[in-house]
Amino acid sequence: MKEQTLSDPVRPDQSALAYNATVVSCRQPHSDLLLLRVRLDEGEFVCDPGQYTTLALGGWEPRIDRLRTTSPAWQNRLIRRAYSVSSPILDEQGELVEFSKLDFAEFYVALVQKPTDDPPQLTPRLFALRQGDRLHMGPVAHGNYAAVPVQPDQNLLFVGSGTGEAPHNAIVTERLRTGHRGRIAVVTSVRLRRDLAYMEQHRQLEDRFDNYRYVPVTTREPENLEPAHPGYVGRKHIQELYATGELFERIGWEPSPDDTHVYLCGNPAMIGAPHHDRSGEFVFPEPPGMVELLLHHGFRLDHPRRPGNVHFEKYW
Ligand SMILES: Cc1cc2nc3c(=O)[nH]c(=O)nc-3n(C[C@H](O)[C@H](O)[C@H](O)COP(=O)(O)OP(=O)(O)OC[C@H]3O[C@@H](n4cnc5c(N)ncnc54)[C@H](O)[C@@H]3O)c2cc1C
Repeated sequence: MKEQTLSDPVRPDQSALAYNATVVSCRQPHSDLLLLRVRLDEGEFVCDPGQYTTLALGGWEPRIDRLRTTSPAWQNRLIRRAYSVSSPILDEQGELVEFSKLDFAEFYVALVQKPTDDPPQLTPRLFALRQGDRLHMGPVAHGNYAAVPVQPDQNLLFVGSGTGEAPHNAIVTERLRTGHRGRIAVVTSVRLRRDLAYMEQHRQLEDRFDNYRYVPVTTREPENLEPAHPGYVGRKHIQELYATGELFERIGWEPSPDDTHVYLCGNPAMIGAPHHDRSGEFVFPEPPGMVELLLHHGFRLDHPRRPGNVHFEKYW
């Protein structure tokens, strides 16, 4: 276990009961971004690409920010949150990994920033983990994000914000490995280029697969914020890039509802999922997210009783 401070109450008796997994490795591309590999003590972790599971740590575990929790109720509880299972994409030999054969689950986690009077509970504790540390991982994966069958000739557009790229890494790796023939584009919106932990792997996929494009979109680089910058492009959300058609230029093709599935993951504002009013009509959030724009273009929202071609996973 990691070094403790006097102010970090430790309950080894409780952690021994609750924890069922070990950190295989952890890497922080920068202070707010974490790649965590976790292995269950026993049993195979069965997970389809695109699914999520839970990670949990006791409220007694140390936080990187050393903030105390606001409520003492957390201190004796397991703090559990959902995380999409990502993929390393390439193995050490540079080959596409076979997702189902990995003997660890990879997670791509953002350190959440919240006011100090309401500090985030789990991520500051996940960021304090080191190789060999113990935690709880849900032994069963969940979710239907990528459950709808896709034909090898259909086109796939994945749109994520930040670590919302995680399930796309797993789905895309598997699709390319099994010979998907349709076009695949992964579009990821982040504040800064340094927030793209898998950039190198995606660039290698582009070199190898003619049908693959990776399009990172930043919102806080100098070219987004400073009009005097020679490459000034402004600060554009993915919705705007889609509405103006700029996204189609950047991915090199125009997604059509006749032959394309679209996957949206991460920030709920980017996704813009509707709710139903009393008469059963969709009510969309304002400003519009990707779902509303896609439905206007003839796409259909996926639903358990009416399979469609727009799929989404909201992170909060
Ligand atoms: C199905 C599912 C899969 C998820 N997969 C991932 C994942 O792969 N990677 C990941 O980083 N998070 C993921 N999340 C979010 C994750 O479950 C937690 O909400 C997040 O890590 C914050 O936990 P916390 O206890 O530190 O913060 P909390 O105290 O629980 O604060 C939650 C608040 O933090 C903000 N928030 C949550 N997630 C993010 C985020 N990723 N980026 C910025 N702000 C955020 C929101 O305002 C949210 O209301 C997923 C959520 C769901 C529902």
